[in-house]
Amino acid sequence: MTQSTLTPSTSTAEIQAMDAAHHIHPFSNSGALNRLGSRVITRSEGVYVWDSEGNKILDGMAGLWCVNMGYGRQELIDAATRQLGELPFYNTFFQTTHTPAVDLAALIASVTPGDLNHVFFANSGSEAIDTIIRTTRQYWQIQGKPYKHILISRENAYHGSTVGGASLGGMSAMHKQGAPTLPGIEHIRQPYWYGEGGDQSPEDFGLACAQALEDRILAVGPDNVAAFIAEPVQGAGGVIVPPANYWTEIQRICRKYDVLLAADEVICGFGRTGSWFGSQTLGIEPDIISMAKGLSSGYLPIAAVAIGDRIANALLEWDDEYAHGFTYSGHPVAAAVAAANIRLMQSENIIDYVASDIGPYFQKQLRDTLANHPLVGHIEGLGLMAGIALVKDKSTRALFSDDVNIGLICRNHCFNNGLIMRAVGSRMVLSPPLIITHEQVDELVTKAKHCLDLTMKDVNAG
Ligand code: PMP
Repeated sequence: MTQSTLTPSTSTAEIQAMDAAHHIHPFSNSGALNRLGSRVITRSEGVYVWDSEGNKILDGMAGLWCVNMGYGRQELIDAATRQLGELPFYNTFFQTTHTPAVDLAALIASVTPGDLNHVFFANSGSEAIDTIIRTTRQYWQIQGKPYKHILISRENAYHGSTVGGASLGGMSAMHKQGAPTLPGIEHIRQPYWYGEGGDQSPEDFGLACAQALEDRILAVGPDNVAAFIAEPVQGAGGVIVPPANYWTEIQRICRKYDVLLAADEVICGFGRTGSWFGSQTLGIEPDIISMAKGLSSGYLPIAAVAIGDRIANALLEWDDEYAHGFTYSGHPVAAAVAAANIRLMQSENIIDYVASDIGPYFQKQLRDTLANHPLVGHIEGLGLMAGIALVKDKSTRALFSDDVNIGLICRNHCFNNGLIMRAVGSRMVLSPPLIITHEQVDELVTKAKHCLDLTMKDVNAG
Protein backbone atom coordinates (compact mmCIF):
# COMPACT_ATOMS: atom_id res chain seq x y z
CA MET A 1 0.00 0.00 0.00
CA THR A 2 1.39 3.42 -0.92
CA GLN A 3 0.61 6.57 0.97
CA SER A 4 -1.38 9.15 -0.99
CA THR A 5 0.81 12.17 -1.63
CA LEU A 6 -1.47 14.26 -3.85
CA THR A 7 -0.97 18.01 -3.49
CA PRO A 8 -1.96 20.89 -5.78
CA SER A 9 1.52 20.69 -7.32
CA THR A 10 1.47 16.96 -8.06
CA SER A 11 2.31 16.53 -11.75
CA THR A 12 -0.03 15.00 -14.30
CA ALA A 13 2.38 12.08 -14.74
CA GLU A 14 2.36 11.37 -10.99
CA ILE A 15 -1.45 11.49 -10.83
CA GLN A 16 -1.61 9.14 -13.82
CA ALA A 17 0.81 6.73 -12.16
CA MET A 18 -1.26 6.62 -8.96
CA ASP A 19 -4.43 6.25 -11.02
CA ALA A 20 -2.90 3.32 -12.87
CA ALA A 21 -1.72 1.70 -9.65
CA HIS A 22 -4.96 1.92 -7.68
CA HIS A 23 -7.98 2.94 -9.69
CA ILE A 24 -9.98 0.52 -11.83
CA HIS A 25 -12.07 2.60 -14.25
CA PRO A 26 -15.60 1.80 -15.43
CA PHE A 27 -16.07 0.62 -19.02
CA SER A 28 -12.32 0.64 -19.69
CA ASN A 29 -9.57 -1.68 -20.86
CA SER A 30 -7.46 -1.14 -17.75
CA GLY A 31 -4.21 -2.37 -19.28
CA ALA A 32 -4.47 -0.10 -22.31
CA LEU A 33 -5.70 2.81 -20.22
CA ASN A 34 -2.76 2.55 -17.85
CA ARG A 35 -0.30 2.48 -20.72
CA LEU A 36 -1.85 5.62 -22.22
CA GLY A 37 -2.48 7.44 -18.93
CA SER A 38 -5.83 8.93 -17.95
CA ARG A 39 -6.67 12.50 -18.82
CA VAL A 40 -7.00 14.35 -15.55
CA ILE A 41 -9.96 16.74 -15.36
CA THR A 42 -9.48 19.38 -12.72
CA ARG A 43 -12.17 22.05 -12.92
CA SER A 44 -15.24 23.24 -14.78
CA GLU A 45 -17.45 26.21 -15.55
CA GLY A 46 -20.56 26.51 -17.74
CA VAL A 47 -20.07 24.17 -20.70
CA TYR A 48 -16.29 23.85 -20.27
CA VAL A 49 -13.94 21.60 -18.34
CA TRP A 50 -10.18 22.04 -17.89
CA ASP A 51 -7.54 19.32 -17.68
CA SER A 52 -4.44 19.21 -15.49
CA GLU A 53 -2.34 20.64 -18.30
CA GLY A 54 -4.56 23.74 -18.41
CA ASN A 55 -6.40 22.84 -21.63
CA LYS A 56 -9.94 24.25 -21.89
CA ILE A 57 -12.33 21.73 -23.41
CA LEU A 58 -15.93 22.23 -24.58
CA ASP A 59 -17.88 19.39 -22.97
CA GLY A 60 -20.11 18.17 -25.78
CA MET A 61 -21.33 15.30 -23.55
CA ALA A 62 -22.43 17.24 -20.43
CA GLY A 63 -20.21 14.97 -18.35
CA LEU A 64 -21.99 11.72 -19.15
CA TRP A 65 -25.32 13.03 -20.50
CA CYS A 66 -26.03 14.60 -17.13
CA VAL A 67 -24.73 18.11 -16.41
CA ASN A 68 -27.84 19.58 -18.00
CA MET A 69 -27.73 22.96 -16.22
CA GLY A 70 -24.00 23.34 -16.73
CA TYR A 71 -21.07 23.42 -14.34
CA GLY A 72 -20.58 25.81 -11.43
CA ARG A 73 -24.24 26.60 -10.65
CA GLN A 74 -24.23 28.39 -7.30
CA GLU A 75 -27.90 27.50 -6.62
CA LEU A 76 -27.01 23.80 -6.57
CA ILE A 77 -23.87 24.30 -4.51
CA ASP A 78 -25.87 26.34 -1.97
CA ALA A 79 -28.66 23.73 -1.78
CA ALA A 80 -26.12 21.01 -0.98
CA THR A 81 -24.28 23.12 1.58
CA ARG A 82 -27.49 24.13 3.36
CA GLN A 83 -28.75 20.56 3.52
CA LEU A 84 -25.41 19.16 4.70
CA GLY A 85 -25.61 21.50 7.68
CA GLU A 86 -29.25 20.76 8.49
CA LEU A 87 -29.65 17.01 8.01
CA PRO A 88 -26.87 15.28 6.04
CA PHE A 89 -28.54 11.89 6.23
CA TYR A 90 -31.58 10.13 7.46
CA ASN A 91 -33.28 7.07 6.02
CA THR A 92 -36.84 6.79 4.78
CA PHE A 93 -37.39 3.15 5.80
CA PHE A 94 -39.01 2.80 9.21
CA GLN A 95 -42.01 5.11 9.30
CA THR A 96 -39.78 8.14 8.78
CA THR A 97 -39.46 10.74 6.07
CA HIS A 98 -37.76 14.10 5.62
CA THR A 99 -38.66 17.26 3.78
CA PRO A 100 -36.06 17.06 0.95
CA ALA A 101 -37.45 13.67 -0.16
CA VAL A 102 -41.08 14.78 0.17
CA ASP A 103 -40.41 18.04 -1.64
CA LEU A 104 -38.58 16.32 -4.48
CA ALA A 105 -41.18 13.56 -4.88
CA ALA A 106 -43.94 16.17 -5.24
CA LEU A 107 -41.82 18.23 -7.61
CA ILE A 108 -41.07 15.23 -9.83
CA ALA A 109 -44.77 14.29 -9.86
CA SER A 110 -45.57 17.82 -11.04
CA VAL A 111 -43.31 17.57 -14.12
CA THR A 112 -43.88 13.94 -15.15
CA PRO A 113 -46.49 13.21 -17.81
CA GLY A 114 -49.86 11.52 -17.26
CA ASP A 115 -50.54 9.87 -13.92
CA LEU A 116 -46.91 9.15 -12.97
CA ASN A 117 -47.66 10.57 -9.54
CA HIS A 118 -45.68 8.29 -7.23
CA VAL A 119 -41.91 8.41 -6.83
CA PHE A 120 -39.45 5.78 -5.57
CA PHE A 121 -35.86 6.93 -5.05
CA ALA A 122 -32.60 5.21 -5.98
CA ASN A 123 -29.00 6.35 -6.47
CA SER A 124 -28.20 5.45 -10.06
CA GLY A 125 -29.93 4.75 -13.31
CA SER A 126 -29.06 1.07 -12.91
CA GLU A 127 -30.79 0.90 -9.53
CA ALA A 128 -33.81 2.64 -11.02
CA ILE A 129 -33.90 -0.01 -13.74
CA ASP A 130 -33.64 -2.82 -11.20
CA THR A 131 -36.54 -1.14 -9.43
CA ILE A 132 -38.57 -1.25 -12.65
CA ILE A 133 -37.77 -4.95 -13.11
CA ARG A 134 -38.88 -5.81 -9.59
CA THR A 135 -41.85 -3.46 -9.48
CA THR A 136 -43.44 -4.48 -12.79
CA ARG A 137 -43.08 -8.15 -11.87
CA GLN A 138 -44.40 -7.54 -8.39
CA TYR A 139 -47.39 -5.74 -9.88
CA TRP A 140 -48.41 -8.89 -11.73
CA GLN A 141 -47.77 -11.04 -8.67
CA ILE A 142 -50.18 -8.85 -6.74
CA GLN A 143 -52.68 -9.38 -9.56
CA GLY A 144 -52.38 -13.13 -8.98
CA LYS A 145 -50.39 -13.64 -12.19
CA PRO A 146 -46.84 -14.55 -11.07
CA TYR A 147 -46.22 -16.21 -14.43
CA LYS A 148 -46.58 -12.82 -16.19
CA HIS A 149 -42.93 -11.96 -15.51
CA ILE A 150 -41.08 -11.75 -18.85
CA LEU A 151 -39.59 -8.38 -19.73
CA ILE A 152 -39.08 -7.47 -23.37
CA SER A 153 -36.29 -5.07 -24.23
CA ARG A 154 -34.31 -4.30 -27.38
CA GLU A 155 -30.95 -5.11 -28.92
CA ASN A 156 -28.43 -2.31 -28.43
CA ALA A 157 -30.48 -0.81 -25.61
CA TYR A 158 -28.59 0.49 -22.59
CA HIS A 159 -30.25 0.08 -19.21
CA GLY A 160 -27.29 0.12 -16.83
CA SER A 161 -24.60 -2.14 -15.49
CA THR A 162 -26.00 -3.96 -12.46
CA VAL A 163 -26.91 -7.59 -13.13
CA GLY A 164 -30.48 -6.46 -13.76
CA GLY A 165 -29.53 -3.51 -15.94
CA ALA A 166 -26.95 -5.40 -17.99
CA SER A 167 -29.36 -8.29 -18.54
CA LEU A 168 -32.20 -6.01 -19.53
CA GLY A 169 -30.02 -3.91 -21.83
CA GLY A 170 -29.22 -5.25 -25.24
CA MET A 171 -25.43 -4.85 -25.32
CA SER A 172 -24.01 -8.20 -26.40
CA ALA A 173 -20.55 -7.49 -24.95
CA MET A 174 -22.15 -6.90 -21.55
CA HIS A 175 -24.17 -10.10 -21.78
CA LYS A 176 -21.00 -12.13 -22.27
CA GLN A 177 -19.15 -10.65 -19.30
CA GLY A 178 -20.28 -11.88 -15.91
CA ALA A 179 -22.63 -14.27 -17.72
CA PRO A 180 -25.13 -15.82 -17.35
CA THR A 181 -27.61 -12.97 -17.48
CA LEU A 182 -30.94 -12.96 -15.67
CA PRO A 183 -33.60 -15.30 -16.99
CA GLY A 184 -37.00 -14.03 -18.13
CA ILE A 185 -35.71 -11.31 -20.44
CA GLU A 186 -36.25 -11.17 -24.21
CA HIS A 187 -34.75 -8.81 -26.78
CA ILE A 188 -36.25 -7.63 -30.05
CA ARG A 189 -34.64 -5.64 -32.86
CA GLN A 190 -33.88 -1.95 -32.45
CA PRO A 191 -35.50 0.71 -34.66
CA TYR A 192 -32.19 1.85 -36.19
CA TRP A 193 -33.37 2.83 -39.66
CA TYR A 194 -30.10 4.21 -41.09
CA GLY A 195 -28.09 1.18 -40.00
CA GLU A 196 -30.60 -1.63 -40.42
CA GLY A 197 -33.47 -0.31 -42.53
CA GLY A 198 -31.98 -1.30 -45.90
CA ASP A 199 -34.29 -0.24 -48.73
CA GLN A 200 -37.35 0.16 -46.50
CA SER A 201 -38.85 3.59 -45.95
CA PRO A 202 -38.58 4.81 -42.33
CA GLU A 203 -42.34 4.23 -41.98
CA ASP A 204 -42.24 0.63 -43.21
CA PHE A 205 -39.19 -0.04 -41.07
CA GLY A 206 -40.82 1.57 -38.01
CA LEU A 207 -43.85 -0.70 -38.44
CA ALA A 208 -41.66 -3.77 -38.92
CA CYS A 209 -39.70 -3.03 -35.73
CA ALA A 210 -42.89 -2.54 -33.73
CA GLN A 211 -44.31 -5.71 -35.28
CA ALA A 212 -41.31 -7.53 -33.78
CA LEU A 213 -42.76 -6.73 -30.37
CA GLU A 214 -46.14 -8.22 -31.21
CA ASP A 215 -44.47 -11.30 -32.71
CA ARG A 216 -42.40 -11.82 -29.57
CA ILE A 217 -45.37 -11.30 -27.25
CA LEU A 218 -47.29 -13.93 -29.20
CA ALA A 219 -44.29 -16.27 -29.28
CA VAL A 220 -43.83 -16.29 -25.49
CA GLY A 221 -47.54 -15.88 -24.75
CA PRO A 222 -49.19 -12.57 -23.75
CA ASP A 223 -50.04 -14.02 -20.36
CA ASN A 224 -46.32 -14.36 -19.61
CA VAL A 225 -45.20 -10.83 -20.51
CA ALA A 226 -44.94 -8.28 -17.70
CA ALA A 227 -43.60 -5.24 -19.54
CA PHE A 228 -41.85 -3.77 -22.53
CA ILE A 229 -39.03 -1.34 -21.73
CA ALA A 230 -37.19 1.08 -24.00
CA GLU A 231 -35.39 4.39 -24.08
CA PRO A 232 -37.58 6.95 -25.94
CA VAL A 233 -34.45 7.79 -27.98
CA GLN A 234 -31.58 5.31 -27.58
CA GLY A 235 -28.64 7.13 -26.00
CA ALA A 236 -25.61 4.98 -25.25
CA GLY A 237 -26.51 2.84 -28.29
CA GLY A 238 -25.46 5.79 -30.45
CA VAL A 239 -28.36 8.29 -30.27
CA ILE A 240 -30.91 6.53 -32.41
CA VAL A 241 -34.21 8.30 -33.06
CA PRO A 242 -36.94 5.81 -34.00
CA PRO A 243 -39.14 6.37 -37.07
CA ALA A 244 -42.09 8.67 -36.30
CA ASN A 245 -44.71 5.90 -36.32
CA TYR A 246 -42.75 3.48 -34.09
CA TRP A 247 -43.88 4.51 -30.63
CA THR A 248 -47.58 4.85 -31.55
CA GLU A 249 -47.55 1.29 -32.77
CA ILE A 250 -45.54 -0.01 -29.77
CA GLN A 251 -48.06 1.59 -27.47
CA ARG A 252 -51.02 0.08 -29.32
CA ILE A 253 -49.45 -3.37 -29.05
CA CYS A 254 -48.70 -3.03 -25.33
CA ARG A 255 -52.31 -2.03 -24.66
CA LYS A 256 -53.70 -4.81 -26.85
CA TYR A 257 -51.91 -7.51 -24.82
CA ASP A 258 -52.04 -5.79 -21.42
CA VAL A 259 -48.26 -5.46 -21.27
CA LEU A 260 -46.95 -2.63 -19.07
CA LEU A 261 -44.97 0.06 -20.86
CA ALA A 262 -41.78 1.28 -19.19
CA ALA A 263 -39.76 4.20 -20.55
CA ASP A 264 -36.11 4.51 -19.50
CA GLU A 265 -35.75 8.29 -19.25
CA VAL A 266 -32.27 8.26 -17.67
CA ILE A 267 -30.86 10.22 -20.63
CA CYS A 268 -34.01 11.63 -22.25
CA GLY A 269 -35.41 13.06 -19.01
CA PHE A 270 -34.95 16.63 -17.80
CA GLY A 271 -35.03 18.57 -21.02
CA ARG A 272 -32.65 16.65 -23.25
CA THR A 273 -35.22 16.24 -26.06
CA GLY A 274 -36.99 19.58 -25.51
CA SER A 275 -39.63 18.37 -23.02
CA TRP A 276 -39.31 17.41 -19.38
CA PHE A 277 -39.29 13.79 -20.54
CA GLY A 278 -38.62 12.09 -23.86
CA SER A 279 -42.01 10.39 -23.51
CA GLN A 280 -43.68 13.78 -23.97
CA THR A 281 -41.62 14.59 -27.08
CA LEU A 282 -42.36 11.20 -28.63
CA GLY A 283 -46.01 10.88 -27.55
CA ILE A 284 -45.49 7.93 -25.19
CA GLU A 285 -47.81 7.32 -22.21
CA PRO A 286 -45.78 4.96 -20.03
CA ASP A 287 -46.94 3.14 -16.89
CA ILE A 288 -43.57 3.63 -15.22
CA ILE A 289 -40.36 5.57 -15.97
CA SER A 290 -36.78 5.68 -14.69
CA MET A 291 -34.78 8.88 -14.35
CA ALA A 292 -31.30 9.84 -13.06
CA LYS A 293 -28.49 11.97 -14.55
CA GLY A 294 -30.22 15.30 -15.39
CA LEU A 295 -32.42 14.99 -12.29
CA SER A 296 -29.58 16.59 -10.30
CA SER A 297 -27.59 17.79 -13.32
CA GLY A 298 -25.10 15.18 -12.11
CA TYR A 299 -24.04 17.26 -9.09
CA LEU A 300 -24.88 14.39 -6.74
CA PRO A 301 -25.91 10.81 -7.46
CA ILE A 302 -29.67 10.39 -7.36
CA ALA A 303 -32.21 8.49 -9.43
CA ALA A 304 -35.93 7.88 -9.28
CA VAL A 305 -38.71 5.78 -10.68
CA ALA A 306 -42.02 7.54 -11.30
CA ILE A 307 -44.88 5.07 -11.02
CA GLY A 308 -48.31 5.53 -12.56
CA ASP A 309 -51.56 5.21 -10.62
CA ARG A 310 -52.30 1.71 -11.93
CA ILE A 311 -49.16 0.14 -10.44
CA ALA A 312 -49.00 2.42 -7.38
CA ASN A 313 -52.62 1.76 -6.43
CA ALA A 314 -52.00 -1.97 -6.66
CA LEU A 315 -49.09 -1.61 -4.22
CA LEU A 316 -51.22 0.49 -1.87
CA GLU A 317 -54.23 -1.85 -1.94
CA TRP A 318 -52.01 -4.91 -1.55
CA ASP A 319 -51.33 -3.63 1.97
CA ASP A 320 -48.13 -5.62 2.51
CA GLU A 321 -44.44 -4.69 2.78
CA TYR A 322 -42.66 -4.16 -0.54
CA ALA A 323 -39.21 -5.43 0.44
CA HIS A 324 -37.20 -3.16 -1.82
CA GLY A 325 -35.05 -0.08 -1.23
CA PHE A 326 -31.61 1.38 -0.73
CA THR A 327 -29.91 2.98 2.28
CA TYR A 328 -29.64 6.18 0.32
CA SER A 329 -33.13 6.14 -1.26
CA GLY A 330 -34.10 9.83 -1.24
CA HIS A 331 -30.77 10.92 0.30
CA PRO A 332 -31.53 14.38 1.74
CA VAL A 333 -28.53 16.19 0.26
CA ALA A 334 -28.96 14.67 -3.19
CA ALA A 335 -32.71 15.30 -3.02
CA ALA A 336 -32.18 18.95 -2.04
CA VAL A 337 -29.82 19.43 -4.98
CA ALA A 338 -32.24 17.73 -7.39
CA ALA A 339 -35.12 19.94 -6.18
CA ALA A 340 -32.96 23.05 -6.60
CA ASN A 341 -32.02 21.81 -10.06
CA ILE A 342 -35.65 21.37 -11.14
CA ARG A 343 -36.53 24.84 -9.79
CA LEU A 344 -33.54 26.30 -11.65
CA MET A 345 -34.75 24.62 -14.85
CA GLN A 346 -38.18 26.17 -14.27
CA SER A 347 -36.96 29.66 -13.43
CA GLU A 348 -34.68 29.71 -16.49
CA ASN A 349 -37.34 28.25 -18.84
CA ILE A 350 -34.75 25.79 -20.04
CA ILE A 351 -37.30 23.39 -21.56
CA ASP A 352 -38.62 26.12 -23.90
CA TYR A 353 -35.06 27.15 -24.71
CA VAL A 354 -34.19 23.60 -25.82
CA ALA A 355 -37.51 23.01 -27.61
CA SER A 356 -37.77 26.19 -29.63
CA ASP A 357 -34.38 27.87 -29.66
CA ILE A 358 -31.10 26.08 -28.96
CA GLY A 359 -32.27 22.56 -29.86
CA PRO A 360 -33.36 23.42 -33.42
CA TYR A 361 -30.27 25.64 -33.80
CA PHE A 362 -27.94 22.83 -32.70
CA GLN A 363 -29.59 20.32 -35.05
CA LYS A 364 -29.44 22.76 -37.98
CA GLN A 365 -25.83 23.81 -37.40
CA LEU A 366 -24.74 20.19 -37.13
CA ARG A 367 -26.34 19.34 -40.45
CA ASP A 368 -25.27 22.55 -42.22
CA THR A 369 -21.66 22.10 -41.12
CA LEU A 370 -21.16 18.33 -41.15
CA ALA A 371 -23.70 16.60 -43.42
CA ASN A 372 -21.58 17.06 -46.55
CA HIS A 373 -18.41 15.81 -44.92
CA PRO A 374 -17.13 12.71 -46.74
CA LEU A 375 -17.03 10.69 -43.51
CA VAL A 376 -20.57 11.57 -42.41
CA GLY A 377 -23.23 9.14 -43.60
CA HIS A 378 -26.13 10.39 -41.54
CA ILE A 379 -26.97 12.76 -38.70
CA GLU A 380 -29.94 12.17 -36.43
CA GLY A 381 -31.01 13.75 -33.18
CA LEU A 382 -33.62 15.53 -31.18
CA GLY A 383 -33.30 18.57 -28.92
CA LEU A 384 -29.74 18.60 -27.62
CA MET A 385 -28.74 15.05 -28.44
CA ALA A 386 -27.32 13.86 -31.73
CA GLY A 387 -25.67 10.86 -33.34
CA ILE A 388 -23.37 11.10 -36.35
CA ALA A 389 -22.79 7.93 -38.38
CA LEU A 390 -19.24 7.75 -39.77
CA VAL A 391 -19.04 5.66 -42.92
CA LYS A 392 -16.48 4.55 -45.46
CA ASP A 393 -18.87 5.03 -48.34
CA LYS A 394 -21.76 7.48 -48.14
CA SER A 395 -23.62 6.02 -51.10
CA THR A 396 -23.73 2.44 -49.80
CA ARG A 397 -23.62 3.26 -46.05
CA ALA A 398 -20.67 0.83 -45.83
CA LEU A 399 -18.76 0.99 -42.55
CA PHE A 400 -15.00 0.92 -42.04
CA SER A 401 -13.54 -2.47 -41.23
CA ASP A 402 -13.01 -3.28 -37.55
CA ASP A 403 -9.26 -2.65 -37.69
CA VAL A 404 -9.93 1.04 -38.46
CA ASN A 405 -11.38 2.25 -35.18
CA ILE A 406 -12.82 5.33 -36.79
CA GLY A 407 -14.80 6.47 -33.74
CA LEU A 408 -11.78 6.30 -31.44
CA ILE A 409 -9.57 8.16 -33.93
CA CYS A 410 -12.14 10.93 -34.11
CA ARG A 411 -12.69 11.01 -30.34
CA ASN A 412 -8.95 11.44 -29.76
CA HIS A 413 -8.70 14.29 -32.25
CA CYS A 414 -11.63 15.95 -30.49
CA PHE A 415 -10.06 15.67 -27.07
CA ASN A 416 -6.74 17.02 -28.34
CA ASN A 417 -8.51 19.93 -30.01
CA GLY A 418 -10.70 21.13 -27.17
CA LEU A 419 -13.93 19.18 -27.68
CA ILE A 420 -15.43 16.21 -25.90
CA MET A 421 -17.40 14.14 -28.38
CA ARG A 422 -17.99 10.49 -27.51
CA ALA A 423 -17.60 7.53 -29.84
CA VAL A 424 -20.07 4.63 -29.83
CA GLY A 425 -18.48 2.24 -32.30
CA SER A 426 -18.45 4.21 -35.54
CA ARG A 427 -21.07 6.71 -34.34
CA MET A 428 -20.06 9.99 -32.74
CA VAL A 429 -22.52 11.24 -30.15
CA LEU A 430 -23.20 14.66 -28.66
CA SER A 431 -25.27 15.73 -25.68
CA PRO A 432 -24.06 19.15 -24.51
CA PRO A 433 -25.31 21.01 -21.43
CA LEU A 434 -28.75 22.52 -22.09
CA ILE A 435 -27.49 26.00 -21.21
CA ILE A 436 -25.16 26.05 -24.23
CA THR A 437 -25.34 29.32 -26.18
CA HIS A 438 -25.53 29.88 -29.95
CA GLU A 439 -21.88 30.97 -30.02
CA GLN A 440 -20.87 27.84 -28.14
CA VAL A 441 -22.85 25.65 -30.56
CA ASP A 442 -20.95 27.36 -33.38
CA GLU A 443 -17.69 26.63 -31.59
CA LEU A 444 -18.76 23.00 -31.10
CA VAL A 445 -19.63 22.35 -34.75
CA THR A 446 -16.52 24.17 -36.01
CA LYS A 447 -14.32 22.01 -33.78
CA ALA A 448 -16.25 18.87 -34.76
CA LYS A 449 -15.66 19.61 -38.46
CA HIS A 450 -11.97 20.25 -37.91
CA CYS A 451 -11.65 16.94 -36.05
CA LEU A 452 -13.51 15.07 -38.78
CA ASP A 453 -11.03 16.57 -41.28
CA LEU A 454 -8.13 15.32 -39.14
CA THR A 455 -9.79 11.89 -38.91
CA MET A 456 -10.18 11.83 -42.69
CA LYS A 457 -6.48 12.64 -43.12
CA ASP A 458 -5.52 9.74 -40.85
CA VAL A 459 -7.76 7.38 -42.78
CA ASN A 460 -6.31 8.51 -46.12
CA ALA A 461 -2.79 8.17 -44.77
CA GLY A 462 -3.80 4.83 -43.31
N1 PMP B 1 -30.49 3.75 -18.49
C1 PMP B 1 -30.02 4.54 -19.46
C2 PMP B 1 -30.92 4.86 -20.62
C3 PMP B 1 -28.73 5.07 -19.39
O1 PMP B 1 -28.27 5.83 -20.38
C4 PMP B 1 -27.93 4.76 -18.28
C5 PMP B 1 -26.54 5.32 -18.12
N2 PMP B 1 -25.92 5.80 -19.24
C6 PMP B 1 -28.46 3.92 -17.29
C7 PMP B 1 -29.74 3.45 -17.42
C8 PMP B 1 -27.64 3.55 -16.09
O2 PMP B 1 -27.41 4.63 -15.28
P1 PMP B 1 -26.22 4.59 -14.21
O3 PMP B 1 -24.94 4.62 -14.97
O4 PMP B 1 -26.47 5.84 -13.39
O5 PMP B 1 -26.39 3.36 -13.40
